[in-house]
Amino acid sequence: MSVDVAALSRLIEQFERMPGVGRKSAQRMAFYVLNLPEEEAARFADSILNARKRIHQCAICCNLTEETLCSVCRNEARDKSIVCVVEDPRDVMAIERTHEYNGTYHVLHGAISPMSGVGPDQLTIKQLLNRLDGVKEVIMATNPTVEGEATAMYLSRLLKPMGIRTTRLAYGVP
Ligand code: ZN
Repeated sequence: MSVDVAALSRLIEQFERMPGVGRKSAQRMAFYVLNLPEEEAARFADSILNARKRIHQCAICCNLTEETLCSVCRNEARDKSIVCVVEDPRDVMAIERTHEYNGTYHVLHGAISPMSGVGPDQLTIKQLLNRLDGVKEVIMATNPTVEGEATAMYLSRLLKPMGIRTTRLAYGVP
């Protein structure tokens, strides 16, 4: 369908930029929003802005938080000598749900991918290197993809000479 209302096409375009959303779904969402009562639409817009404003990266592990430090880094009972490196905050959520890990995390926010122009500098590797005081073991829990493997390998090569034990966890977000 062609849309000749500029504001509506802009809204559709915004939804279409979301991961996994095609033209049809984007149109459905746009019309849904359009039909919301005005105060509900305002709440929706507010929650986007609010999340954007309040949520930032933990000063230690780069996971998302509303505080300076995330709940894992704040928790005295977590074993700070073990760091589990993941690509994405969703990986932290998935591992936390298992209740079987008591160490800390480091969220890279991506993986090394020369094809997409993502190098080590675009990830939070510098922050990882800055927090290794007292760390004995780093578990690589990057995704089982070419990029995830390359990232795990890169980090192992970086960390091993520093006397840190690195292990690879075969793990992927289902
Ligand atoms: Zn943290």
